[in-house]
Amino acid sequence: MLAEHTTFHVGGAAKRFVRVTSQEELIDVVRDADDRGEPILLLGGGSNMLVPDAGFDGTVMQVATRGITAEVSSCGGAMVRVQAGENWDEFVGFAVSQEWVGVETLSGIPGAVGATPIQNVGAYGADVAATISAVRTWDRQQRRIRTFPAIDCQFGYRTSVFKRHPGRWCILDVSFQFKLGDLSAPIAYAELARALGVDVGQRVGIAQVREAVLAIRRSKGMVLDEADYDTWSGGSFFTNPLLSEEEAATLPPEAPRFPAGERIKTSAAWLIQHSGFSKGYGNRRAGLSTKHVLALTNRGSASADDLVALAREVRDGVEARWGIRLEPEVNILGTAL
Ligand SMILES: Cc1cc2nc3c(=O)[nH]c(=O)nc-3n(C[C@H](O)[C@H](O)[C@H](O)COP(=O)(O)OP(=O)(O)OC[C@H]3O[C@@H](n4cnc5c(N)ncnc54)[C@H](O)[C@@H]3O)c2cc1C
Repeated sequence: MLAEHTTFHVGGAAKRFVRVTSQEELIDVVRDADDRGEPILLLGGGSNMLVPDAGFDGTVMQVATRGITAEVSSCGGAMVRVQAGENWDEFVGFAVSQEWVGVETLSGIPGAVGATPIQNVGAYGADVAATISAVRTWDRQQRRIRTFPAIDCQFGYRTSVFKRHPGRWCILDVSFQFKLGDLSAPIAYAELARALGVDVGQRVGIAQVREAVLAIRRSKGMVLDEADYDTWSGGSFFTNPLLSEEEAATLPPEAPRFPAGERIKTSAAWLIQHSGFSKGYGNRRAGLSTKHVLALTNRGSASADDLVALAREVRDGVEARWGIRLEPEVNILGTAL
């Protein structure tokens, strides 16, 4: 059952399940499925997908390729290539231990390295796009390996060219360029600065940043823990809405507002909380996390349908109250929200 491979712990069976440990094998499996016209689903850590109860009528391929290669020089920094199947948080821990600067605030995000460019994962004032130099892929349409320099990845807030064209490119490995040092980038996130006892804009040791981020995340159920249903989720279920100035003006002054280019970003969690949904809202099967309203969680016996129904209820409640339609951050398979 795919429920064993997703952090929601839901999802029916796959017609075929394959675990690949080399890039050659990955490409062979994809090419073969494409030749036969069989649908294929790539799976990393299953932490950003809601798989239907009916499962997946095709090949599910778990990417378990491993390997990290690095060229380090005092003037150029560290150029690091990481196989798609490496665990993201283990890699962050390794980067911090090597004094490679730039991903420490992304500690504790579940899943595999290969999925991080897709939605340009981010947390605590940083996103992965800031350190990615290139993404190597198998292009299923052109049937060749294609490397995207960072500039061609079209990174934006929780998006990229890979997210905009789902399934076209299989990510083989990701290259990063890190500065060397033991001090973090300036802390950009007020809650993190408070936890570290510094002002926004100050620098702190990267190991200290990693520990502080992990502690904050644990307090919100944002670090996976089998024993805690609050973490049986896909993380933040919705993205933070990007509003025009006119739209933002309809919100009360106390609603959070952050500049985001031409747009203004508000907080999906704030909107949910101010639409009548509090922590723990839901039923015995599916509910909002008791620690964080933005995470929809499986309380132990939820089906995918239960979670989709809850997501619709929250989205519609926010829209009825504020006229803002929340968009899912989680990849929902088999149905539109
Ligand atoms: C508790 C929790 C906390 C989270 N916190 C954050 C956070 O702070 N910030 C954040 O941005 N996200 C967060 N997330 C979401 C999630 O962890 C990230 O999006 C992560 O990058 C998903 O990785 P994964 O390997 O689990 O991807 P999966 O869920 O396995 O896959 C996600 C999508 O990517 C595709 N995919 C996977 N691997 C490949 C590949 N090699 N090539 C092509 N396509 C591929 C899949 O087909 C699917 O469409 C959180 C999730 C949870 C459960």
